[in-house]
Amino acid sequence: MKLQNKVALVTGGSRGIGAAISKALALEGAKVVFTYHSNPDSAQKVLDEIRINGGEGRIFQADASSFTDAQKTVDFVLSEFNALHILVNNAGITRDSLILRMSEEDWDEVINTNLKSVFNYSKAAIKPMINQREGKIINISSVVGIIGNAGQANYVAAKAGVIGLTKTLAREFASRNINVNAIAPGYIETDMTAKLTDTQKQAILNLIPLKRIGKPEEIAKAVVFLASDDANYITGQVLCVDGGMVM
Ligand code: NAD
Repeated sequence: MKLQNKVALVTGGSRGIGAAISKALALEGAKVVFTYHSNPDSAQKVLDEIRINGGEGRIFQADASSFTDAQKTVDFVLSEFNALHILVNNAGITRDSLILRMSEEDWDEVINTNLKSVFNYSKAAIKPMINQREGKIINISSVVGIIGNAGQANYVAAKAGVIGLTKTLAREFASRNINVNAIAPGYIETDMTAKLTDTQKQAILNLIPLKRIGKPEEIAKAVVFLASDDANYITGQVLCVDGGMVM
């Protein structure tokens, strides 16, 4: 197992990509704490699955856009497991519309949930990582943060911001043996993309050289790699897991 004796924290782990990441980290031996926002039953189901497969985990209710909640989550991780080696900033939402119709609330909510959350959790997690003299931070961005997307100004700005924040944190903390990377998923089958119309789905599929939608487990495998010692010489990078959409 690649992550034996490591402690991991994943934001938004109760479904979709975050649930797949939490399960994959646990299967590799990490003790996993994942947060959920509003669905304790769904979070409990993911935790049950981790335990059935012999893993160790905890769940914690937190709003990723709140710095206070982020600090409380990290305090909980340290009180339960006395360490924090891996942080995965996964929580995210969409509130799509063309910018002329986009409300200020939708702008703020998406920026706070998708970008400020990465500041919140990274700031809270970096202190114990510095004390341990090791850490891995993996931020879930998106290919649209690289190429842009009409109708998603708030989301694209947040995901591009996550890439800038990733590179800056990588530079600030490389000397502390903390690696910070981003993953940019393409089109992945989750509740988030279930909202798309068939026409929208077909239009995206036409842009994917591998001609299929990705699975949450395929993002989770990239996270496990970046969280492991196999990626010790990789920092400040954006790994596109997208069937070739961006190249
Ligand atoms: P999802 O909607 O299935 O899951 C999002 C998760 O974030 C949920 O568990 C939700 O509870 C959590 N969350 C939302 N707001 C939160 C808050 N305020 N505090 C804490 N948790 C909160 O979506 P997903 O597809 O699994 O997305 C996971 C991540 O991957 C997101 O950052 C998303 O932007 C990114 N992403 C997804 C795709 C895709 O095609 N599905 C593509 C690129 C990037």
